[in-house]
Amino acid sequence: MEENVKHEATAKNIDRLVTVGAGWGKRLDRWIIPPLYESASKKLDGIPVSLVAAQRMLNEVKADDRVLLVDQFAWYPNRPYGETDGPLGVASLARTVRFGLSALPVLVTGPNDIEVARNTTKAAGLNVLEYSVAKEITTAVAAEVIFPCVDKDQSREIAFRLIDEYAPKAVIAVETIGPNRKGVKHSGAGYDTEAKDKLPGLEYLFYEASARGILTIGIIDRGNELGSGTIEEDVRKVVPYADVCRCPCGAGGACMVKTDIVFPASISNWGAYAISAMVAYLLKKPKILQDEDTERLMLEACVMAGAIDGSEGGPVMSVDGVGVKAQQSLVNMLHTIIENALL
Ligand SMILES: [Zn+2]
Repeated sequence: MEENVKHEATAKNIDRLVTVGAGWGKRLDRWIIPPLYESASKKLDGIPVSLVAAQRMLNEVKADDRVLLVDQFAWYPNRPYGETDGPLGVASLARTVRFGLSALPVLVTGPNDIEVARNTTKAAGLNVLEYSVAKEITTAVAAEVIFPCVDKDQSREIAFRLIDEYAPKAVIAVETIGPNRKGVKHSGAGYDTEAKDKLPGLEYLFYEASARGILTIGIIDRGNELGSGTIEEDVRKVVPYADVCRCPCGAGGACMVKTDIVFPASISNWGAYAISAMVAYLLKKPKILQDEDTERLMLEACVMAGAIDGSEGGPVMSVDGVGVKAQQSLVNMLHTIIENALL
């Protein structure tokens, strides 16, 4: 009993840290995350989201299992290789899946996001290879799969096949654009991201995983991403353009795709870091969570592969307007919280 109280207290501190608004000063909507986080935690009987996510991963993912890690924010023409938010979260979770759970992380992104996800994950200390090769390797490795940009029926078939082949024990999205009630995928600013080119139908992985009872987690920071449907009513209430978008669909930018757990964080990467920190804490292995030097390498690799800071509009050393030193400081704070809790 006492142990659970300690776990909850640790998770609560972690979740408070990653839900602090520290984003882009010119955008006055950083108040949206605390109410969305409360809503997400309420769905889990008020237990801190990072604790539920970490415990479920530990319970459901065993050695040699597969976990699909999804991110996608590349869209034509403004985000040719996606953003710095998403790939670092995936890379952190890849460490957790491999070094914490001894399972195989499988990166799944669209064709324009894969290089960024691959390079960021390599910088996090894992080689990234085709599944057929990766599954034979017992050391630090992740697999990669490209989800093509095809129509809905083909996407459904591909998702069915991937879930069959990998039989994952968890499917996790970090900052992945998802469809609204009318099937339209919006940017955070409420525009149709498929106005000029098709995006990969990654949502079908989540429909298929949910239908089979596989654990699904969506990490979000705005409400237009996979998982937001879990708390759609509140997303529509508090997020600009979620209820009334700026595209002709007229149905708002809120994504309707639900997950077992949704984790709203101030920057989606941070929600992933929080889960990594909690798994590291519960396993008493703080080194699972990347350290500050690795965090910097990850961001460098991500930027060098062409990802941009969406707030700054270019490939610079920041995420959602929060610079590399603050990102490293966040990682240091997470380490401090879990290491002190383990004393
Ligand atoms: Zn719209």
